[in-house]
Amino acid sequence: MPEGKIIKALSGFYYVAHEGSITQCRGRGVFRKNKITPLVGDYVVFQAENETDGYILEVGERKNELVRPPIANVDQAILVFSAVEPDFSTTLLDRFLTLIEFNLIEPIICISKIDLIPETRLSDIQAYAADYEKMGYRVIFTSTTMQDSIDRLWPLLQNKVSVVAGQSGVGKSSLLNQLRPELALKTSGISSHLGRGKHTTRHVELIEVGAGLVADTPGFSSLDFTDMGVEDLTDCFPEFKLRKHACKFRGCTHLAEPKCAVKAAVESGEIPSYRYEHYTQFVQEIRDRKPRY
Ligand code: GDP
Ligand code: ZN
Repeated sequence: MPEGKIIKALSGFYYVAHEGSITQCRGRGVFRKNKITPLVGDYVVFQAENETDGYILEVGERKNELVRPPIANVDQAILVFSAVEPDFSTTLLDRFLTLIEFNLIEPIICISKIDLIPETRLSDIQAYAADYEKMGYRVIFTSTTMQDSIDRLWPLLQNKVSVVAGQSGVGKSSLLNQLRPELALKTSGISSHLGRGKHTTRHVELIEVGAGLVADTPGFSSLDFTDMGVEDLTDCFPEFKLRKHACKFRGCTHLAEPKCAVKAAVESGEIPSYRYEHYTQFVQEIRDRKPRY
């Protein structure tokens, strides 16, 4: 049986990409018994009825699953944060990073609108970028006015499934349009492969960027810590995770415990204090949500 990947779901049809072509599939009852609804990004086994149509027989196991946009097996998230308009915010960035780490997705921090940075803010932004690089994150600077910013992003998207995330107005649609100029996201929403006409229902589609796939709908609109415990949170900060073996207590939450390697690193300036502040803020949020024992 042929295998492929769902790159678009619309009106009960799943468009399965395989070996350079696309088959329009319907679901068959088999996997419905297990209450699985196929998602864009799913690896599937399908049966072809003819050259263009078929049906899905099996849905492969997922490594993760986003709700918005509804997409499975996401490898990485391009976190778009504008340098200005709106102003760069480490609080919001850390919130996004935490949620993305929790979903086992690799983040790429993309600082956008760099053409608009006033001279006086440039060194601040560069210092933040250096902080995040030191934590192990990849940081790139982009602007719609510079083609080379896309040239830097492009190779990072190859052979991966990516989603774009970030607050409203930071330039997510502009970035997606730059990746696929023929895909006018805001206006027509015409599908690259099959669509002729406008979206009639909300849907998500993976667009081809060379050998990479990028979701055409930005994600992570909900930013609360539902399902996350404090122990999960400690592991969502890579520079904490790296040091936890050196904490005196196993399962250290880096809060009130003595001889904590994370707190020591904050005091010595190795970990930026704003990261630790955001961490305690998120802990509080999780505790306020959960009953205390
Ligand atoms: P979204 O809400 O994140 O999808 O943001 P948009 O892509 O709609 O962009 C919001 C506004 O910022 C639009 O007016 C864009 O033209 C503008 N914009 C986006 N990227 C850049 C950039 O790199 N430089 C400048 N100067 N403006 C930009
Ligand atoms: Zn600790």
